[in-house]
Amino acid sequence: MRTTRAIIHLDNLTQNIQNIKTFIEPGAKMCVAVKADAYGHGAVECAKTAVKAGADFLAVATADEGKELREAGIQTSILLLSLCSPEEVSEVVANSITPLVFDEDYITLFADTAKKQGKNNYTVHLAIDSGMGRIGAYPEDAGKIAKKIVSSGLHLGGVCTHFATSDGISDKDKQYTDEQFKRFCLAIDNIRKEGIEPGLRHCCASAATLVDSAMHMDMVRPGIIVYGYYADDVNKDYLKTIGTPLELKEVMTLESEVCAIRQFKKGMSVSYGRTWTAEQDTEIAVLPVGYGDGLLRRFAQSGFMVAINGKNYPIVGRICMDQCMVNLGLNSGVKRWDKAVLFGSEQDGALQNADDIARATGTISYEITSCITKRVPRLFCK
Ligand SMILES: *Cc1c(COP(=O)(O)O)cnc(C)c1O
Repeated sequence: MRTTRAIIHLDNLTQNIQNIKTFIEPGAKMCVAVKADAYGHGAVECAKTAVKAGADFLAVATADEGKELREAGIQTSILLLSLCSPEEVSEVVANSITPLVFDEDYITLFADTAKKQGKNNYTVHLAIDSGMGRIGAYPEDAGKIAKKIVSSGLHLGGVCTHFATSDGISDKDKQYTDEQFKRFCLAIDNIRKEGIEPGLRHCCASAATLVDSAMHMDMVRPGIIVYGYYADDVNKDYLKTIGTPLELKEVMTLESEVCAIRQFKKGMSVSYGRTWTAEQDTEIAVLPVGYGDGLLRRFAQSGFMVAINGKNYPIVGRICMDQCMVNLGLNSGVKRWDKAVLFGSEQDGALQNADDIARATGTISYEITSCITKRVPRLFCK
């Protein structure tokens, strides 16, 4: 196996899910988001582990992601969170994936396809746009659209919405989430006024799941927290201050090995563009990992550190597609083929996690783990 690999701690995934479960209102189901290859962690393995740990639903973003789970023998209910193309509808229905719908055209498409495949009462969930400005019916139209679902011969299995600012902790953000929740409740009322049962009502992704149990309703949809990262501002410290501490463990560790050590004389430069020059004699370690693996080029500009034998060393020069260079200084004791940990869990020797990188580079942990590319083998540990 390649020395550059992502260790995936399925035991940590299980533990995170079990810890999160203690937050969830009794009776509320849990839908674990495994979209984007489980945020880069490996969808099939993570989905299987999540189901074993008690997930009632899984959530994907594309038809193919859902199909992949079905082909792996997973029979758990799967929610499709994004819209698929008309061409993909038959694949969605054939794999018994539950789509989010919200307009008449799309409802008709699913109703017709389900009929063609002989699937009566095919289950869909109605998406409500309560203020995210993405997909969903407006709350005032919810009754009408629900009626359309039922009259088309589909089964309304649930109704859902998504919050725009639930991972923020300012009064303004919290107020907006409250407003969205109210609009969502109004949509549910409008559905009931038509004499239609809304089914599973769900609105909480990770942040709202941790912050407000009054919003759990019938199901929550956590993603990032099951992989061991807090949802932006709803972090470890914040949860402590609101009296609901939560321990999460990073599921992914990205590691590599020192594949060469080069002796550098003062004045020698490293990598494309010669952005770094040795100010004194030094040793440079070469790592076989680059932006082709998801170690993005812009990481180097933020003083990215790599942990080798429990010590941090800076990446110097530009990160290449397949390689990067680390300044060891003199007498580091680092040897060729020593393990180099880029980020992840302390238990693997990491001195930073995806959140640290995210903060340093102006993004969120989601992007760091999701961008670890396919050519990095995932090594699953139970
Ligand atoms: C991705 C997604 C989630 C999970 O979000 P996290 O912030 O990772 O918990 C939940 N619901 C919807 C609609 C999503 O798109």
